[in-house]
Formats: sequence, structure tokens, C-alpha cells
Amino acid sequence: MAEESSHTADVLIIGGGIIGCSIALRLTEGRLSVIILDRGEPGAEASSAAAGMLAPQGEMVEPRTFSDLCVTSRSLYPRFAAEIEELSGQPVAYRSNGSLLVALDEKQETELTEVYRQQTARGFSLQQLTTPEVHRHVSGLSPQIRSGLFAPGDHWVDSERLMRALLVACRHAGVRIEAGQAVRKFKLKNDRIESLEAGSDTAGHAATYTARTYILAAGCWSGELATLLGINLPLVPCRGQMMEFETPRKLPCVVRAGLHYLVPRPEQRLLIGTTAEYVGYDKAVTGEGLRSVLQGAMNLVPFVAGLHFRRAWAGLRPDSTDHLPILGYGEFENLVFSTGHFRNGILLAPVTAEIIAELVLKGSASRPIEAYRPTRFSLPPGEPPPWDHTS
Ligand SMILES: Cc1cc2nc3c(=O)[nH]c(=O)nc-3n(C[C@H](O)[C@H](O)[C@H](O)COP(=O)(O)OP(=O)(O)OC[C@H]3O[C@@H](n4cnc5c(N)ncnc54)[C@H](O)[C@@H]3O)c2cc1C
Repeated sequence: MAEESSHTADVLIIGGGIIGCSIALRLTEGRLSVIILDRGEPGAEASSAAAGMLAPQGEMVEPRTFSDLCVTSRSLYPRFAAEIEELSGQPVAYRSNGSLLVALDEKQETELTEVYRQQTARGFSLQQLTTPEVHRHVSGLSPQIRSGLFAPGDHWVDSERLMRALLVACRHAGVRIEAGQAVRKFKLKNDRIESLEAGSDTAGHAATYTARTYILAAGCWSGELATLLGINLPLVPCRGQMMEFETPRKLPCVVRAGLHYLVPRPEQRLLIGTTAEYVGYDKAVTGEGLRSVLQGAMNLVPFVAGLHFRRAWAGLRPDSTDHLPILGYGEFENLVFSTGHFRNGILLAPVTAEIIAELVLKGSASRPIEAYRPTRFSLPPGEPPPWDHTS
């Protein structure tokens, strides 16, 4: 017979990735008791798979309000990283050396010109580089590179170290983190969640958890959990494959062109990425994925061909139909959504944590979050969703 136990906290967070843990850390400042439940190993999903670029200037970010959110979060990073390092006693390898965006063909050159136009019009610092200037910035780049942009404000962090340190910081701050606890069922009363049930994915022991506030931060699995609550949250996993090499040659900064990038990591490691594949919850590393990642990196930095391979992995980004995060209160009085961070969850962690903590502690957020409201996906009865092209 299955054993049962029950637990209570002020706030219960579903999902122990960077989003759930960053929120937990902020909430402890308000002296709330916080439990994080994670189905598997906390931090082991998208948040550890990420490249760790903190780079809103590396691409065209639309709409403008979202771009502002990204830039705000980037500005919070130095403090966020320092706080985690101090609380955990572990370095997170936050680097502020900027990133180099390069163009290999006419299409990419046109895109970079547009990025430059858009971002300088908004007052952001970007330097346009000719081919010789690009090569002076970073040696070893492909002779095919036509031009570049240097974004001094775009930074990066070792997301695996950050995630590990964040978990330690949360524990030191008093957060209870439970691994292997998949949320399976909710008990509802009127417009409130009364309790939830969690246990291992393979059934057996089940525990009941009760809290004043619940936070849904389960990455690309948040849609499945919302379904248990009768809510339509159109989130899908977007697979990204990554590779890591040992490198005796240090890249001074991130180098990128479109989806392809190279990110230096401590201890002479070099990360290369990535793919964007909609193949369900499949985290396999595939031959085609590796070929595309490697080819993309070698087109930018040919010396990658001679480096020693260390490992490859894949992670699942939480992508919503409009590619924007899902933040705030929705259908239930005591459920806050914090999910759908797609390609920018590492970057957006500090600002998300601040917003969600304000909602929980004060009832409102000091930054505009209307564009991210969870209820934007609810439709009047009979109306087809805007992304449904079958009707
Ligand atoms: C290859 C790749 C590269 C990326 N590069 C960058 C980058 O350079 N910069 C950037 O800002 N972002 C990047 N991202 C995106 C970023 O990683 C994500 O947006 C972010 O990690 C999402 O964090 P999360 O906490 O929402 O999700 P996750 O880290 O996926 O965490 C969700 C957690 O919820 C748990 N969970 C799921 N279901 C349940 C359940 N039923 N009960 C309990 N727990 C549950 C899971 O076990 C998981 O631990 C990248 C992502 C990938 C895959």
C-alpha cells in the first residue's frame, strides 16, 4: 500500500530549474517558508543545458517591451551572480567581455545592419566592424567572415556552475528542495488550489503538500501540469543540442552568427551550439544535430575541427506560441505562473524572480507584465487559436 505524508509551506514551487530556484531565493528575503518540488534532479534540465549567454543585443528582440525586460535582467546580473557566489561560496564564472556577432553571407550582413539600426536608435552601444577589425577582435576566425558587430554589453555565465551554486545558495537561505517529487494531482476548491500530491514518477510513496501560494515553474512541462488544472497553456519543448571541446586557444568572448555560436568556459573548455528542433520531449543527441552544430561552428572558427571533443548533450527550451514568457496570476487565486522563458531563461532569471516575488509578497509587480499574462491563451468559446492554420 502507498505511504502518505503531508507537508506545509508558505510557498510551494513546482520545478527546480533556474526560474524556480531564483524565485525561491528572492522569496526567502520576505521571510517566507519555501519548498521546491522537482520531478528529477533539480537544475538538471534546460537550465544546465544552456549556453549561458546573457545577450539581448545579440539578436533582434521583439517586441520592444520584451527587449526592455531582457536588458533590465542583464543589468541585474552582476548583483545576482555576486549574491549567489557569496551565499554558496562557489564561483559562477560570470564574464562581461561582450560578444561578437559576425556575418558570413549577404543575408546575415543585412540582419546585422538591421540589428545595428534598431539597437543604436534605442541608445545601445554597438560597434560596427569591418572584416580586418573583426579579425583583430578575435584571432582564428574564418576568412569568409564579411563584417561584424561588437556588443560590449552582452555577457555570459557558466550556466551549469550557476545552477549548482544557486541550489546551494537556496539551501543556505533555508529553502527546502525535494528531488524526485513529480507533481501528479491538484486538489481544487472554488478558485483556489487547496493542496497537491507529489511522488516519484514510478508511483509508490505519495505526499500531500499544502501552501498559501503555488508557483508553476516547470519549464516545458508546465503545459502538462496546467492541463491537470483545466488550463490551456500552449507550451512546447524546443530541443537544442550542444557540444563541448577542450581548447588550448582561448576565445576572448562569445562569437555568434544566427543560431550558431561559440562560448568560452573556464578550464580551457569551449561550448558550441545549437539547434532548434520541435520533436516533443525527446532529449536525444542525434547525428544530424551534431553535424549541424559542428558545421556551424567550423564555418565561424575553423580551428574547432582540430579540438578534442569532450561531450555532447541536448536540452528542452520551454516555448510558447508567441515565444514570450508566461508570468503572473491567472485562473486561480493562489497560483502564479512563471514559465515559457524559451531561449532566454538564464538571462531572464533575475528579473523574473524579482517580479514573481513582488507578486507574492505585495500582490503587484512594479514592472509592466501585461504582455506576459497567462490568460492571454484563453479564447472565447468556438474561436480557433491564432496559431491554428487548419481552419
Ligand atoms: C541548448 C540550450 C541553450 C540555451 N542557451 C541559453 C542561453 O544562452 N541564454 C539563456 O538565457 N537561455 C538559454 N537557454 C534557455 C534556458 O535554458 C531556459 O529558458 C531556462 O533554463 C528555463 O528554465 P526553467 O527553470 O523554466 O526550466 P528547466 O530548467 O527545464 O526546469 C524545469 C524543472 O521542472 C521540473 N518538472 C517538470 N515537471 C515536473 C513535475 N510534474 N513536478 C515537479 N517538477 C517538474 C523538471 O524536472 C525541471 O527540473 C538555452 C536552452 C537550451 C536547451
